[in-house]
Amino acid sequence: MPKSIAIIGGGAAGFFSAINIAKKNPNYNVTIYEASSKLLSKVLISGGGRCNVTNTISEPKVLVNNYPRGYDFLKPVFDQFTTLDTQKWFTKHGVNLKTEPDGRVFPVTDSSETIYNCLYQNCKELGVNIKLKYRLVDLDFKQGKWHLKFKVKHEASDIVILATGINTGILNVLEKLSIPIIQPVPSLFTFNSKNHRQLNLSGISVSNALVSIKEITSRIENGPLLITHWGYSGPSILKLSSWLAFDIEKLNYNFNLSINWNSYDLKSLEKHLFLNVINSPKQKVRYWTEHGLPKRLWHQLFDSTGLKEYVNWSEIGKKGIHKLLSILTRYEVRIQGKSTHKEEFVSAGGIDLSAVDFKSFSIKNHSNLYAVGELLNIDAVTGGFNFQAAWSGAYMISEHLSNKI
Ligand SMILES: Cc1cc2nc3c(=O)[nH]c(=O)nc-3n(C[C@H](O)[C@H](O)[C@H](O)COP(=O)(O)OP(=O)(O)OC[C@H]3O[C@@H](n4cnc5c(N)ncnc54)[C@H](O)[C@@H]3O)c2cc1C
Repeated sequence: MPKSIAIIGGGAAGFFSAINIAKKNPNYNVTIYEASSKLLSKVLISGGGRCNVTNTISEPKVLVNNYPRGYDFLKPVFDQFTTLDTQKWFTKHGVNLKTEPDGRVFPVTDSSETIYNCLYQNCKELGVNIKLKYRLVDLDFKQGKWHLKFKVKHEASDIVILATGINTGILNVLEKLSIPIIQPVPSLFTFNSKNHRQLNLSGISVSNALVSIKEITSRIENGPLLITHWGYSGPSILKLSSWLAFDIEKLNYNFNLSINWNSYDLKSLEKHLFLNVINSPKQKVRYWTEHGLPKRLWHQLFDSTGLKEYVNWSEIGKKGIHKLLSILTRYEVRIQGKSTHKEEFVSAGGIDLSAVDFKSFSIKNHSNLYAVGELLNIDAVTGGFNFQAAWSGAYMISEHLSNKI
C-alpha cells in the first residue's frame, strides 16, 4: 500500500514539501489540503509582486544572523539546504534568477507568477492531489493513522505535514494535541509617531543611522532610515521591529525611539565640533556641511536645539556643542503604534522549537507529524530569508521521509 501524506496548507512551505517528497518517493500518495480557494497567495503578493525567493548570503553561520527566532535551530538545517541550494533548485526547475545589489534574489521576470507557475506545474506533473476549501479543524491519531477533520469532511492519512502559517484555528488544533506554542506577535513593522516634529521632512532618508529603543537597551540596529508622514521606516526600523518583536509588544507599541543620524562616534564627533571652534570660528554653525546629512534634515535638527540661526562656532560655547551632540547622536522621538511595511509582515511565535526535531522537522512525541514554514517559531528580517526558512524546512522533511522508507 502506498503511504498517504496529507500536507495542510497550500503555501510556499506546503508546495515545496509536496514537490520534493513526491519526486523522491513516487509511490507516496501526496495531497495538499488548502483552506481557501486560492493557492500560494502569499507567494503571489510577495516582494511587491516580484517574489524575493532567497538571498545570496549562503554561509549558514552568517545566514542565521537574519533570524531573530530560529537562530540556533537553523544552523544545521542550512548546512543541509542553504540559499545556494534554493537558487540551484529553482534554476533546475526552469526559473532564471537574478540578484539585486543588496543580495536579494528574484526571478528575472520580476513576477511572482513565475514562482507560482513553477511550484504549481511541478506539483501537477508529479501527480500531487490538490484539494481547495479544505480547512483543517481537528486532528487525531488513532490506530496508526491521522484522522483529519476538515470543515467539509473527514479524511485519514499515514503522515501529516502542517504548513498552514499561523492563525487562531490551527493554534487551537495544536493546543488540543498539547504541542507547545509561543503566542504569536507581529514582526516587521514600521513605527508610528503622530504629529512628530519632522513631519515636514517626510520622504527624506539617511543611509547609515543607528536606531535603538530607550526602554530596551539590548539591541541597536543600523542602516537606512526613512522619515514618513506617519513616523519612521526603512531597513534599520524593520530590523529593530523584528529583533525586538516580543519586547515591543510588551510595551504596547509605546516607547521612545533614539536615533543617531549618521552612526556618529560620540567622541570623534565631539572632537570634530570643538576643532570647528578653533579652525572656523567665524563660520555660521547652521551652514556647517560636514555632518553628512541631507541639508533640510540638518537645518531642522539645528533649529530644534534652540540655538540662534546666526550663531558662529566661536560663539556656540560648550553648552551649544553638547546640544548639537545630543540632537545628532541621541535624537529622541515618542512612538505610539505601528504600521505594516508595504503590507509585508510575518508572525513571530508559533510552534515552540523545543518540540521540533531539527533533522526531520517532526513534532516530538507525535508519530508521523511534521511542521514547516511560518507555523514554526521561526521568522526573519526582510531579504528573502522567510521563504528560505520554508524551502529549507520542506527539504529536510522530504529527505527524512525518503530515508525513512
Ligand atoms: C505581503 C507579503 C510579502 C512577503 N514577501 C516576502 C518576500 O518577498 N520574501 C520572503 O522571504 N518572505 C516574504 N513574505 C513572508 C512569506 O510570505 C512567508 O514567510 C511565507 O509565505 C510562509 O509560507 P508558509 O507556507 O509557511 O505559510 P503561508 O504562505 O501563509 O501558507 C499557508 C497556507 O495554509 C493555508 N491554511 C491556513 N490554515 C489552514 C487550515 N486550517 N487548513 C488548511 N489550510 C490552511 C492558508 O490559507 C495558506 O494558503 C511576505 C509576506 C507578506 C504578507
